Amino acid sequence: MINQVSNDLVKLGHKVYSTNYKPRSVVFESGKGSKIWDLDGKQYLDFGSGIGVTCLGHCNSEILEAIRDQSEKLWHTSNFYFSEPPIRLAEDIIDCTFADKVYFCNSGAEANEAAIKIARKYSHDHFGPEKRTILTFEGSFHGRTLAAVTATAQPKFHVGFEPLPAGFRYCKFNDLESLKNSFQDDVCAVLLEPIQGEGGIRPFSIEFLQQVRKFCDQNQALLMFDEIQCGMGRTGKLFAYEWADGVVPDIVTVAKAFGAGLPIGATLLGKKVSETLPLGSHGSTFGGNPVCCAIARVVFAKASSSEFLQIIEKKGEFLLSLLNGMNSKFQVFSEIRGKGLMIGAEFNEELGDIAPQVLNLCLENHLLVLQSGTTVLRLLPAYTISLDEISEGAKRLEKVLEDVCQM
Ligand code: PLP
Repeated sequence: MINQVSNDLVKLGHKVYSTNYKPRSVVFESGKGSKIWDLDGKQYLDFGSGIGVTCLGHCNSEILEAIRDQSEKLWHTSNFYFSEPPIRLAEDIIDCTFADKVYFCNSGAEANEAAIKIARKYSHDHFGPEKRTILTFEGSFHGRTLAAVTATAQPKFHVGFEPLPAGFRYCKFNDLESLKNSFQDDVCAVLLEPIQGEGGIRPFSIEFLQQVRKFCDQNQALLMFDEIQCGMGRTGKLFAYEWADGVVPDIVTVAKAFGAGLPIGATLLGKKVSETLPLGSHGSTFGGNPVCCAIARVVFAKASSSEFLQIIEKKGEFLLSLLNGMNSKFQVFSEIRGKGLMIGAEFNEELGDIAPQVLNLCLENHLLVLQSGTTVLRLLPAYTISLDEISEGAKRLEKVLEDVCQM
C-alpha cells in the first residue's frame, strides 16, 4: 500500500504535469547504484537507467565528486567566455575519436538538430541550395523538436504537428535497395542509429553500415550516426558503429548516458564539416555547462577504456544468457537481440501489445524495465550493475513472465 504522502504527490503530479506524460503511480526518492527507493522505502532494481541515462548508476561517487568539485567553482559562463571543463572534455573526445571539433548542447534532440543544420549548411556551401534532403529510416527515433521529429520516420510521432519541415526522405530499415532508390542528387546526408532504440533495439547489419558509407561517398553526402542511445559504451564499444569495421562517420550525436543523469548533448564533427558553422550561426545558452561537462568527462573516460568496455560486454552476455534461459522455459519471445547492455526482447505476436502490461507487472515486482513500442521489452541497465543484481532482476522478470504465460 502506498502511503498518504505518495498518494497525495501522485495525485498532485497528475494535476500539475502537462498531459504529454502519465508517470506510473510511484514517487522515487533516492537511488544508489542500480537500486532505487520510493517514498515508502520500497527498493527496486533499475534495469532501465531512466531511459539509458544513469549509466554509472544512481548517485555514483565519482560523478558526485565531479559535481561537488565543479559546483563549488563555477556553474555558468555563457559561450562568450571559456571555462576549463568543456575545453578538456572536447579535447578528450577529439583525442580518441574521429572528431575534429565538438559542439555542446543539452539534449539528444538538440544534438541532432545541430547535425541536421550542419549537414544542410555544408551541402549548401559546397554544392548549392538544391542538395538538402536527409535520408532516415523507418523505425528511427531522433527526438521531439520539429526537425528531429520529422527525421524520426514514425508517423505516430507526427500526427497533429504538421506542417513538418521539408527535406527528409524515409528508407526501409536495413534495406540496401530502398537506400539506393532514395539516393537522388538532392541527398545531402544520411542519419541513422546504428542500433535503433525506440524502434525495438534493432541493429543495422554491419554490411549495411559499410554500404551506407560507400553510397555517401559516391553521392557526396555526409554520414551521420545518432549514438544518443546506443553510444557512450552502451554496447561494449565507445560507439555502436565501431562494430562495423572500416566505417568512419562525418558526424556523431551523443546525449543520454553522456551526462550520467544531468543534461548534456554533443554533436561530434569530423574534419570535413568541422568549420561549417560561421560565427553566430548556431548556439545554445546552456551548451557546454561546466558542471555537466565535468560529469561527462568522468563518463567519457570510462566509456573509452577498453577494460571497462569489456566488462559491459561480459555483463550483457550474462544478461542475454539469462533471458535466453527464461525463453526456453516460457517461449514468450520471438527474438532476443542487442549488444552489451542494450537488449531488446520481442514478444510473440499472439501476445499482442503486451509490453506496457509487463512493465506494470515488473514494477509490482520491484523491477524497473522499459518498452520499445508496445511489443518489445527493452533493458538498459547501468554499466556498473553487479552480476548479483543482474541475477536478482532476472529472477523478478522470470516471475513476471511466468504470470504472463498464465494470463
Ligand atoms: N535519438 C535517440 C536515438 C534517442 O533514443 C533519443 C531519446 O530517446 C533522442 C534522440 C532524443 O533525445 P532527447 O530526449 O535527449 O532529446
